[in-house]
Amino acid sequence: MSDQARRVIRSPRGTDLSCRGWQQEAAFRMLHNNLDPEVAEHPEELVVYGGTGKAARDWPSFDAIARTLQGLAQDETLLVQSGRPVGVMRTHEWAPRVLLANSNLVGDWATWEEFRRLEALGLTMYGQMTAGSWIYIGTQGILQGTYETFAAVAAKRFGGTLAGTVTLTAGLGGMGGAQPLAVTMNGGVAICVDCDPSRIARRIEHRYLDVQADDLADALRLAAEAREARRPLSIGLLGNAAEVLPEMLAMGAPIDIVTDQTSAHDPLAYLPLGMAFEDMREQAAKDPAAFTQRARESMARHVEAMVGFMDGGAEVFDYGNSIRGEAKLAGYARAFDFPGFVPAYIRPLFCEGKGPFRWAALSGDPRDIAATDRAILELFPQNESLARWIKLAGERVAFQGLPARICWLGYGERDQAGLRFNEMVASGELQAPVVIGRDHLDCGSVASPYRETEGMLDGSDAIADWPLLNAMVNVASGASWVSIHHGGGVGIGRSIHAGQVAVADGTPLAAQKLERVLTNDPGMGVIRHVDAGYDRAAEIAAERGVPIPMAQG
Ligand code: NAD
Repeated sequence: MSDQARRVIRSPRGTDLSCRGWQQEAAFRMLHNNLDPEVAEHPEELVVYGGTGKAARDWPSFDAIARTLQGLAQDETLLVQSGRPVGVMRTHEWAPRVLLANSNLVGDWATWEEFRRLEALGLTMYGQMTAGSWIYIGTQGILQGTYETFAAVAAKRFGGTLAGTVTLTAGLGGMGGAQPLAVTMNGGVAICVDCDPSRIARRIEHRYLDVQADDLADALRLAAEAREARRPLSIGLLGNAAEVLPEMLAMGAPIDIVTDQTSAHDPLAYLPLGMAFEDMREQAAKDPAAFTQRARESMARHVEAMVGFMDGGAEVFDYGNSIRGEAKLAGYARAFDFPGFVPAYIRPLFCEGKGPFRWAALSGDPRDIAATDRAILELFPQNESLARWIKLAGERVAFQGLPARICWLGYGERDQAGLRFNEMVASGELQAPVVIGRDHLDCGSVASPYRETEGMLDGSDAIADWPLLNAMVNVASGASWVSIHHGGGVGIGRSIHAGQVAVADGTPLAAQKLERVLTNDPGMGVIRHVDAGYDRAAEIAAERGVPIPMAQG
């Protein structure tokens, strides 16, 4: 390993500045934080998360970005092209201190093949969503997104709580492992099937899963007792979902919600019916085509059972793993009878300008996050699901790198939170400034027809003007850094998205900027959904005073 790759990067903490102001310091600290070994998956390669999502193109680029930020004045802006600093321009104090464009390619050239060719020449890098825009905060984001999805299910069908309900799902892997905790955080009971005993053990060890059942009968007995008592409980069950789900359907098991997070997007990672888990790897390597065929046929049985539960009245949805598409390829005609999770639950939140709002304490002191948690609870006392999340996150989420928090807030809420945090910095309630950002997976910042913009009401799934307008309005409103990326989440050629981060440094100028950025950024979500014809977005626009030119005759 080279000396460069052995470097351990960690953000500075405390109130001593490495840069000429807090706006630059915040970018400097968050760049370093993204590559903290506690945060990044492969920091030695500058890879933060999501396959090869990087924070900087190479080590010389990383060093040049850091050095330039240290010398950057309050009226200068650093330009970063796919992880490499390419210029510093004279701007003004309302302008962002950094502008980033990552992984963008012209339409006809937007393929993985061409991207990899250019990457090998050292001309670009894959920025994912929050890797190349320096606002990744670790796995808290996955847990919170899953929690929010189940909260939306609860709101839609079960009076706002999952207490007294049983969710049936499969897949306890890297991301799917968040499901049991997300269900119990919403008060419900979860039965989670996985064919790999080590995954079940790992989730129990990390306290994401409560218990393992001895067999199906034991799982159903445990679930019935907990459901009766309206007590949250998550139960791991060893087995093949393609076998267990049809069996449970046939015996009339009382299940309220069904979804799935097995790795169905890759048929070579889905265990076919009748195959021992121990033989899976060898069989997949020996004859991938035959394995794929068997896996797809098994997924068809799995999805058929999900449709059966739906016909019986259960709430059923696809959790973004392509299991419907694979079952369809195996010839199952009703595979798309149940919806994907974004159109089913998340889009109504997007219509309200809601999305994954997040912040990090530049002091490095967890007490600053505890103080902001209390402030959030005081600001939005009527929001029960938010209160439950903040309380449980405080108890159960371990920080990675700089202490941070995520929670979904909407139009008219994010600006209140930002202004309150800025006051807390000014008054000394917080020890140092706070950075406020979000995932690119937000209401008005992404065009991604396989995920965030699947099935838009007006068919505008692939229209990518919205994320570009989002980036421009954030620049015009005073964000501290703004980014435009291509290919995050679903891969090259499939998405265009934008990000913003705004720093609450306690100054009156920061208050003015925060008020605009944190109003206009979620405002893009409201207007994007009004434009696509969503009534809920039109109601929000009317109620909260978002001007819509075409609605005013
Ligand atoms: P992973 O590979 O870490 O885990 C998959 C799990 O499925 C493994 O534990 C495996 O043992 C299990 N499995 C495979 N076949 C099975 C079968 N027949 N029966 C029971 N268990 C089986 O993957 P991950 O990171 O947890 O992601 C899971 C899936 O969810 C992926 O397809 C991913 O793309 C998708 N995903 C979607 C979103 C989203 O859109 N919101 C978010 C996260 C993950």
